Amino acid sequence: MLKKINTWKDLFGNDIDLWCCPVRKSADNILLVARFHGDEPEGEFCLRKMLEELQNTTVSSPYNIYILPCLNPSGKKLFTRANGREIDLNRNYPTENFTAISVNPHTKEMSSGEPASEIETQIMMKLVQDYNFKRILSIHSDLHLIDYDGPAKELAKHFSKLCGYRLVDNIGYQTNGSFGTWVGVERKTPLITVETWHGETAQDMMKIWQELKPAVWNFCELK
Ligand SMILES: [Zn+2]
Repeated sequence: MLKKINTWKDLFGNDIDLWCCPVRKSADNILLVARFHGDEPEGEFCLRKMLEELQNTTVSSPYNIYILPCLNPSGKKLFTRANGREIDLNRNYPTENFTAISVNPHTKEMSSGEPASEIETQIMMKLVQDYNFKRILSIHSDLHLIDYDGPAKELAKHFSKLCGYRLVDNIGYQTNGSFGTWVGVERKTPLITVETWHGETAQDMMKIWQELKPAVWNFCELK
């Protein structure tokens, strides 16, 4: 059932793969995405585990489930928050509150580039426009919480209950030009952002996935 349906190249020639576990053409689409930030491997680990399970198990869901495990392969190679052009991909969206420089608690000041200047951002925007996702899950690390944007409060509450991560209304710092602002606040697509705790070892990564799995399956309405 699981198929790789698209591979884009970033500016450095790295692959950005999109997978889909399809139900049928008329079904609604949902998206799971990770590794906006190259130094946050936890989310990609979880989505690759998810791909393995979808590959090896017969499942049913009312949704076509799209999975993009690594949006920032150039940042992954460098193990940096930003992409290979030193731009924070989660601040690069053409939102009303876009700013050229952003501040975050992880690395302090970073460039946001020009609105939608990055190919990774253009890929995500095109995906959202083409597939009209009913809900999106985005996995980051390592603040250990659940945040949401757009009409996703009930969904986020439920997600938080299932994984035991605390739910917040606001991450506590400015995120101008973020994917959440663009897709959730401005386009009104329900978005849940998971911030996992910091995984050091392979065992940590597995533990993170085991904690999140029931909530992720529930988000996808998988059986
Ligand atoms: Zn992040």
